[in-house]
Amino acid sequence: EDYLVRLRDREPQVQSFLHISEKALEEAKLLDEKIAQKATIGPLAGVPIAVKDNLCTKDMPSTGGSKILEGYRPPYDATAVRKLREGGAIIVGKTNMDEFGMGSTTEGSAYKVTANPWDVSRVPGGSSGGSAAAVAARQCAGALGSDTGGSIRQPASFCGVVGLKPTYGRVSRSGLMAYASSLDVVGCFGSSVEDVAILLQSIAGHDNSDSTSSTKDVPSFVETLKPVQNFSSKPLAGVKFGLIKETLEDGVDSSVVFAIRSAAQHLESLGAEVIEVELPKFSLGLPAYYVLAASEASSNLSRYDGARYGNRADAQELIPMYGNSRAQGLGAEVKRRILMGTYALSAGYYDAFYKRAQQVRRIIQTDLEVVLSKVDVLLSPVAPTVAYKIGEKTDDPLSMYAGDLMTVNVNLAGLPALVLPCGLAEGGPCGLPVGLQMVGKSFDEGELLRLGHIFE
Ligand code: GLN
Repeated sequence: EDYLVRLRDREPQVQSFLHISEKALEEAKLLDEKIAQKATIGPLAGVPIAVKDNLCTKDMPSTGGSKILEGYRPPYDATAVRKLREGGAIIVGKTNMDEFGMGSTTEGSAYKVTANPWDVSRVPGGSSGGSAAAVAARQCAGALGSDTGGSIRQPASFCGVVGLKPTYGRVSRSGLMAYASSLDVVGCFGSSVEDVAILLQSIAGHDNSDSTSSTKDVPSFVETLKPVQNFSSKPLAGVKFGLIKETLEDGVDSSVVFAIRSAAQHLESLGAEVIEVELPKFSLGLPAYYVLAASEASSNLSRYDGARYGNRADAQELIPMYGNSRAQGLGAEVKRRILMGTYALSAGYYDAFYKRAQQVRRIIQTDLEVVLSKVDVLLSPVAPTVAYKIGEKTDDPLSMYAGDLMTVNVNLAGLPALVLPCGLAEGGPCGLPVGLQMVGKSFDEGELLRLGHIFE
């Protein structure tokens, strides 16, 4: 009740939600009855969780932030959502997002603009901006998001909350609306590392309905946080961090660099060794990402044709019906990506764009693997700036894309990354949060969470 009151109270300013569950309280009361009957309840019993709108929910509309799916109700829950419910979580609503995950501010939603709770004249980041803002505004205890090129990490950084992008394949993508299938992952937001560990614990694991989900064992992430209780003054002794030099150079706000360097010093004071590492090809990841993500999107989004889901435009014949449905139902950024992707995949250009981007992806993967064999975890900022003003970049898609420089390589390599609030920059009524990105080895979320918990 407390959360729902706060959710509704803050919603007019923040606008994090596209849909608020009408059944949340009823579901919580059912749990109360179960508890009274001494029935077994899950680890998330009664915990209010918000879900990004590109994850299917059978009892609530799921639009992916697009007009083309306005009012669409899927016949099933996404696997991650089903697992949360099985753990007892109460899904309080669906959160706003850039249409189909394409964007970095949540301004690309077909429905509304979400504000950053730290300063409502600023963006919350994106594309999972609704989820990050909802956690920051304490409208829910935690939230699910998706991350194709930074969509969990960048809004977590802008909104001052903890965000986790798991290893590719750690969490089932079944029921997640596909953007770029080789990069997409489902992950989570919370206000502490422990909250995020609990959420990951309940959504991780193999799923027969996603053949790319990993069959690797899911360790007890919550257990790995325990040793902190035996607190020593140097709990990070023996841990080696690599600060990525290319992410602290020209073009990165000095307040961001300052917060990251201070965080590195804090890690050192806890006993860790921090060295600078060089990744000379780091900046090649951004153009490769935008070719690959747009290419995959152009194929994945062909399913929105007006025949199968959502809105259908009036037309006498089939082909104009497809065309009109897509023309009316899809937004400008989505159309731009479909055009770019279709171009990159077309016969005459395939070798020059798609194939080359794949080659660059391999180089980025190898480079990251090599540095991660020399250090335990990589450190970098999440974005070159803190949250900027609503409307500031809407007319300049290239400058918006450039803001993804520090996050996309992690997706190209499929690695896990944790974002933690690490300081405040000047701006807004009470400062603006800066996030620290920790990139770990494949399937080593446990170590990231352990280190993040000590840092926090
Ligand atoms: N901002 C990036 C993009 O627009 C990343 C989005 C995401 O991770 N879904 O593609």
